[in-house]
Amino acid sequence: ACLARIDELNPQTNAFVSVDAEAALAKADAVDAKRSSGGDVGLLSGLPIGIKDNMCQTGTPTTCGSKMLANYKPPYDAHVVERLNAADGVIVGKLNMDEFAMGSSTETSVAGVTRNPWNAEHSPGGSSGGSAAAVAAGMVPLALGSDTGGSIRQPASFCGVVGMKPTYGRVSRFGLVAFASSLDQIGPFARDVKGASLLLQAIAGHDKRDTTSVDADVPDYVDCIDRPLEGLRVGIVDEHYGAGLDDEVQAAVRKSINALEAAGATVKQVELPHAKYSVATYYLIAPSEASSNLARYDGIHYGYRSPNFDPKDDGLVDLYCRSRGEGFGPEVKRRIMLGTYALSAGYYDAYYLRALKVRRRIREDYDKAFKEVDVIAGPVCPSTAFRLGEKMDDPLAMYLSDVYTISANLAGIPGISVPCGLSDSGLPIGLQLQGPAFEEAKLLQVAKMAE
Ligand code: GLN
Repeated sequence: ACLARIDELNPQTNAFVSVDAEAALAKADAVDAKRSSGGDVGLLSGLPIGIKDNMCQTGTPTTCGSKMLANYKPPYDAHVVERLNAADGVIVGKLNMDEFAMGSSTETSVAGVTRNPWNAEHSPGGSSGGSAAAVAAGMVPLALGSDTGGSIRQPASFCGVVGMKPTYGRVSRFGLVAFASSLDQIGPFARDVKGASLLLQAIAGHDKRDTTSVDADVPDYVDCIDRPLEGLRVGIVDEHYGAGLDDEVQAAVRKSINALEAAGATVKQVELPHAKYSVATYYLIAPSEASSNLARYDGIHYGYRSPNFDPKDDGLVDLYCRSRGEGFGPEVKRRIMLGTYALSAGYYDAYYLRALKVRRRIREDYDKAFKEVDVIAGPVCPSTAFRLGEKMDDPLAMYLSDVYTISANLAGIPGISVPCGLSDSGLPIGLQLQGPAFEEAKLLQVAKMAE
């Protein structure tokens, strides 16, 4: 049924960039056979899943939405792919994304734009727009995305589905193509909180191959979501209600916070005084790390190599310049230039080092706030899904769509987006809940109450 739905809707939505129907059907049959012979079927029990195209799957194109990796077929599986397979999930295909996960609209992919299933003139958000759109359109019940500054939560909110960025270190990044290594985290998309809990359960946990993966117990997320929450304290912050926030988004978010209060939670004002520096801090740290991570695409080891290169006349630097010049799109080049600049001698202290210090302050603000409240509730994004093309000529306006999500990545804490209403024009609105590190279970419980 999922494959038929993809055939029907993908030509317009363009959520999937590749589908391996044969492999999916073979896996589904194998799970069925296991079940009918009385074998133990894994947690995901044959559920179809889509994965963002920056997660390596053996022998399957993993393009990262870039010409640079258009022909790249990894020789190994990402940790999350191993986990999905081991849990008897059925991987159906790879999902569209902004090039190298840099963006908020899924418009910069070499595979073309993805359209929002609620209204095809609008963006599904990004960079995991393919994942959000595929789940919203019913092509797959579950999908994986990655979130460096909001790329799971913002598209989840634009497409009216649940999306969670787990704590940094909760899910192994082994086999995730790196964008900004200290911020990247893989997480689930689902139609409801239960689905997100199930998928998180399958992928969370320690992996020695990612040195930042944390060896901490993984609770039973599915089991905990229906438990009653006694004495829940919900924090709200002024910084979430400043200039630029749509009235409709504000009203829907406030309404769902009131509903939590009516259900017994105490709502309390807390402060995140450094949150206003999040976007500036992020756009120094993320491009700095990206410029270093993307240095590996040299046209030699793997990835795109310029055909406009003649070993007789040209030198090594020509090969680098042409391969990178032709292989990367404009947004990726902008990030590499910003990052290289911020890391260069003379500017390192003034920009990069200072950004790291502000990052620590942002983290400390959260530590303090979470002494007073269990979760912080607010909007995911200042607006509902914007029109395709609307922000393409204005990178700063695009960057500002992550104003409420970025601080969770800088602090390393988990965040979830859960649908909380529709605008007058029929576009979804998301409520964001953020919690202390490794408190995903509590976030899922509160999200379930808000659902
Ligand atoms: N929109 C942000 C950026 O462009 C975040 C992207 C992400 O989370 N991958 O960097």
